[in-house]
Amino acid sequence: MAKKVEKSRQELAAHLTPEQFHVTQEHGTERPFSGQYVHKTADGTYTCVVCGAPLFSSDTQFDSGSGWPSFWAPLDEGQVETESDTSWLMRRTEVHCASCGAHLGHVFEDGPRPTGLRYCINSVALKLEPAAEASGEQSTSDDEAKASS
Ligand SMILES: [Zn+2]
Repeated sequence: MAKKVEKSRQELAAHLTPEQFHVTQEHGTERPFSGQYVHKTADGTYTCVVCGAPLFSSDTQFDSGSGWPSFWAPLDEGQVETESDTSWLMRRTEVHCASCGAHLGHVFEDGPRPTGLRYCINSVALKLEPAAEASGEQSTSDDEAKASS
């Protein structure tokens, strides 16, 4: 059994920004092209902003032009769960973190090969953990990703 990470809404509200809370807990959607990960900026692993579970790799990220970070596969099939979403009178498949249930985005079947899938994910639901040792390159310029908290 996968262990579920459970946090109270109060804990989450203290831990997340209002936008992160809205997207992950209230199935919100960030404005297109507003997210920090719309375009791939660095290699690494995108983790769940709520619980830290590894969700997507920059290896499967592609530029879909949609305005949201797009991936053609999750890091591991077990890391994300999908659920049919028929709100808005459209058939969409909702994607959430398998560990904590955080809403991440939606998956569509118009992605590139090999999967043909397009995971359309909100930047605010993700946190990029830059690759520790990228072979061949050591450009860790001034990456402000090291947020001290
Ligand atoms: Zn999570």
